[in-house]
Amino acid sequence: MRPGELHFGWEYDNVFYRAPEMGSRSRPPACGQQEKGKRRRILRTVRSLEISADYDVKGSVVVAKKKTSTQKPAAAAAQAKPAPAVKKEEPVAKKAEPAAKKEEPAAKKAEPAAKKEEPAAKKEEPAAKKEEPAAKKAKPATKAAKPAAKKPAAKKAAPKAEKPAPEQPAPQVEEPKAEQPAQPVESAPAQPVDTSPRRSVAFIGSECHPFVKTGGLGDVMYALPRVLAQQNCDVRVILPRYACIPQKYQDKMVYRGEFYMDLGQTGRSYYVGIMEYIWDGVVYDFIDNQEFFSAGNPYIGLVEDIPKYCFFSKAALAALNYMNWIPDIVHCHDWQAALVPVYLRTLFKDSPVGRAKSVLTIHNLRFQGIYNIPTIRYWTGLPDEVFEMGALKQDYVNANMLKGGLAYADRITTVSNTYAWEIQTAEYGEKLEDHLRYHSYKLRGIVNGIDYGMWNPATDPSLVVNYDITNVLEHKPENKRALQQELGLVQDEGKFVIGLISRLTDQKGLDLVSAVIPQVMDGNTQVVVLGTGDKEYEDTFRYYENACKGMFSACIQYDEARAHRIYAGADALLVPSRFEPCGLTQLNAMHYGTLPIVRETGGLKDTVEPYNVFNGAGNGFTFDRYDAGLLLDAINRAKTEYFTSRYHWDEVVQRDMAKDVSWENSARQYKDLYLELTPW
Ligand code: ADP
Repeated sequence: MRPGELHFGWEYDNVFYRAPEMGSRSRPPACGQQEKGKRRRILRTVRSLEISADYDVKGSVVVAKKKTSTQKPAAAAAQAKPAPAVKKEEPVAKKAEPAAKKEEPAAKKAEPAAKKEEPAAKKEEPAAKKEEPAAKKAKPATKAAKPAAKKPAAKKAAPKAEKPAPEQPAPQVEEPKAEQPAQPVESAPAQPVDTSPRRSVAFIGSECHPFVKTGGLGDVMYALPRVLAQQNCDVRVILPRYACIPQKYQDKMVYRGEFYMDLGQTGRSYYVGIMEYIWDGVVYDFIDNQEFFSAGNPYIGLVEDIPKYCFFSKAALAALNYMNWIPDIVHCHDWQAALVPVYLRTLFKDSPVGRAKSVLTIHNLRFQGIYNIPTIRYWTGLPDEVFEMGALKQDYVNANMLKGGLAYADRITTVSNTYAWEIQTAEYGEKLEDHLRYHSYKLRGIVNGIDYGMWNPATDPSLVVNYDITNVLEHKPENKRALQQELGLVQDEGKFVIGLISRLTDQKGLDLVSAVIPQVMDGNTQVVVLGTGDKEYEDTFRYYENACKGMFSACIQYDEARAHRIYAGADALLVPSRFEPCGLTQLNAMHYGTLPIVRETGGLKDTVEPYNVFNGAGNGFTFDRYDAGLLLDAINRAKTEYFTSRYHWDEVVQRDMAKDVSWENSARQYKDLYLELTPW
């Protein structure tokens, strides 16, 4: 807020919460041209969704007020289908927003202070009965959503809801039915399946399937909150509202509120909109700001990304205060959200959200958000003590956002035990090994799982033939033949098909792969590569496709549905990574009866037990040192087993399909961690 400017709202620790608008929705003073455009756009959305809550200002207090008029704008009316659904949803939406709209009478709502929270909490519903008294404060949002959820949809809900999309069946289909586009609360009953104490958790991260995903982080942000919701957690996922989020999801978002926030030393006040989508017991809140999130891709380059995620991390916390939804735990992910624990203990420490505990999960230590100190100081406005060697300061020139987060977080997790150990060594520590060793008392590894709704060969709509452990041996060959046909390979079920699904970067061990391909291509082996990334690797694989026609396929693309078909149609999947924090492709592969060939590093080591030819135990074929010869040896061992000992191979196929790689166990460990941090 600029000095002398007149605003209605309240201020907490450098965040100015302004009443979104006056009762008449008149335009607020002093907002930038772009923000005005944004405001108009949001208002259009609001109208088309017929949100009935509005805001009014009483003194310095913002009050939610209900509006009776639900007049439908022409545009919305024209869309026959969405309208009714939206109308219905209104009450739901209201319910789902505990503090903001529904409950409070006048003064309460506006005061971001902790006091509000109470009233909100007690209101909360029935579902809460199970939880113990102590947990009371936690429950707001999701709970309210639940009762609403069970009505409409009890059955159709189930998470897997994947409907085969005819020609391009994507796994993301699990969204609600088209008839209820704006009825986000429809799906699963999301009944807590356990009686452990209830905790509320805000997930803050830069991507989440199916809205936006570039790798494993997107999978985790999707799957873990859903399982935690079933394990008696209130979960809210906070994401940037990128322009690249598919329109079908944008259409389902419901306007939740907006405010203005200062940022660092910019001297400006930035618009923060909140758009909400509730699905399967999880509330997704998208932070809206066109200036930062209008690019077609979440990650562009550090020049753009540093300011973007400084803004996002601060806006996420400010949004929690604004919504008066104060979680027990703030769980942030990777460098993009690593400033959250830092903000939490500095600028926000006296605000309501300041009492939350923080967990920071490292999904990939290679990316840390490093930039020169003046720039990060400018965009964050963090106090000087934060730019010390023990926190953000990397060296004389640079600050490191992840390093700061690691210092300030109450707990650090990474996605496997082995990786948790590896990153404390010079080889894998990416120059943070000393810092991590220093904080190792709060570091632990929890391996990822996979979402069985999204990854299930028995129901996967992308497959030509579905199968399970009882008929995998008959049906997998059919999927292999279909894959060969789809990719223009020689159609022969007898060929040994090796898949590789990966970002094409140095991390993934592709130099080893390209070195051994000539020896692998023996006339009985086919290789299928799916991925995009470094041009060097893309060109190498294109070359091999050309050189080994009918036996090598290079799909240089990102294609979820095709990935599913490769998991189902291949016999083995290659993951020879230089380092691999957890790795999901080997888990997907095992669940589809495809044997992994992996390097023993990080999560690959923790999840794939080496096959033992003497007693037949194990899940896949492994090698230890980063060496092309050892990779070739592992591939040859796999081939030998496949061609000469099929009976044993098939046993491993079934054992892998039976292996529990779901999120249940891992989510339980996260829940235990949350309880350890909040032992009341
Ligand atoms: P990382 O996060 O390092 O990229 P992970 O193994 O943790 O690697 O996660 C990769 C995820 O992205 C898996 O779900 C995999 O199926 C998916 N994936 C990777 N590349 C592609 C692609 N080109 N097309 C479709 N899915 C892909």
